[in-house]
Amino acid sequence: MSVGVLALQGSFNEHVAALRRLGVKGVEIRKPEQLQSVSSLIIPGGESTTMAKLAEYHNLFPALREFVKMGKPVWGTCAGLIFLANKAAGQKTGGQELIGGLNCTVHRNFFGSQIQSFEAELQVPEIVVKEGGPPTFRGVFIRAPAILEVGPEVEVLANIPVPSNKTVDPNHALENQEENTGEKVIVAVKQGNLLATAFHPELTADTRWHSYFLKMMGGEAGVGTSAVGEELGLEERRSTDLPIFQ
Ligand code: GLN
Repeated sequence: MSVGVLALQGSFNEHVAALRRLGVKGVEIRKPEQLQSVSSLIIPGGESTTMAKLAEYHNLFPALREFVKMGKPVWGTCAGLIFLANKAAGQKTGGQELIGGLNCTVHRNFFGSQIQSFEAELQVPEIVVKEGGPPTFRGVFIRAPAILEVGPEVEVLANIPVPSNKTVDPNHALENQEENTGEKVIVAVKQGNLLATAFHPELTADTRWHSYFLKMMGGEAGVGTSAVGEELGLEERRSTDLPIFQ
């Protein structure tokens, strides 16, 4: 079992480091054929238009779509979430190519520009059930997208109050009215083999989302991956680790 990390642009190093902290080796993916050697994939945050251009240049879209269709676990964080969405609002003129598969509409820069980036403690009940730990997770939102509507097969894992200066476009009315009365917007979802977060768990010391994703590969994260951890050795893991928020 090996985990690929799309390494065209953005925070792929940080994801590889987070996996390393769990004793798992992340394989950097830059070419379509490299996808054949991994059983799951993380698409990092970054800038989705740039990432899409690079993916197009490397002819990665057909292989990425095939990977999703095969039912292999794929986790998109931030720009990666935009990549996985069936529909994106707020795109640059001409739009950008998406992988799709995740039945939702995402707004690319819902929370505003880079300087409106923020951190927030999120309620993450499903993560707590599966991974334990504190009831909240520190969400790092960097020019973050938000999910405006989801299909019935999509499980909402976290949401956040909509900032007072924002409104959710009424054309994209939220479907799950019980959970979202218009004051909350969705920031983490799961749909079968697909996981998506609008924030950046790889920039925190809390590895519960990574561990949760590894379990989507079937079986416990430790099974089949611990050997890779042993291979890396604790010292190597420590020395190559990147600075992260505690
Ligand atoms: N909103 C950004 C985009 O459109 C994504 C930001 C991020 O990945 N941190 O690509």
